[in-house]
Amino acid sequence: MQVGLNQSCDAKWSVSVNVAHIEPPFLLGVYAEVDEHLRFMKLALAEAENCTPTETAFCVGCILVFRSPSEPNRPLVLSSGYSREIEGNTHAEANALTKFYAMSTEEISALHLPVSFSSVNDILFHTDVYTTMEPCSVRTSGLAPCSNALIAAGVRRCFIGVDEPSDFVQCEGARRLKDAGVEVHWVKGLEDDCLKVARRGHTQA
Ligand SMILES: [Zn+2]
Repeated sequence: MQVGLNQSCDAKWSVSVNVAHIEPPFLLGVYAEVDEHLRFMKLALAEAENCTPTETAFCVGCILVFRSPSEPNRPLVLSSGYSREIEGNTHAEANALTKFYAMSTEEISALHLPVSFSSVNDILFHTDVYTTMEPCSVRTSGLAPCSNALIAAGVRRCFIGVDEPSDFVQCEGARRLKDAGVEVHWVKGLEDDCLKVARRGHTQA
């Protein structure tokens, strides 16, 4: 993506920069925002890499990011999770939430949130979810779907790396989140990476 800035009248200077090579906070507006979403999705991808591959499930990573209404440009990572990180056939989003709920008061204080909150749900109300794959809506294991857990947590937005393919079930997680009032966004550009890591251990991967 090229951004050009030219002064044509006297041609004394001409600036052309490739935004991919510049880190925030030097970029303003939408370019910085897109770059930031990609950065957190890459962190979620790194979490997905931690999964033990299995033929019967996907490898997914998830990051919970808090953005204060007063300081939206200072995002803080609250928690992370990946598939089967917690014992059992557990999922990334549910694990990130479980780990956050398990944090002590001291651990939450150590995050240095810009304002104090009366409950963890108040914090989650200002929290965005970055997940490498659409949160599930059906669990063949009988466990509660991640989309339900995210809705119950009251998160603000959900950023998705790639839609869940119909390898195992038909997923309606994104629609379910939207119906519940959670903003759903798709981060563009890492779909192939998210799918590749998700299918590690699968016969046709
Ligand atoms: Zn799930």
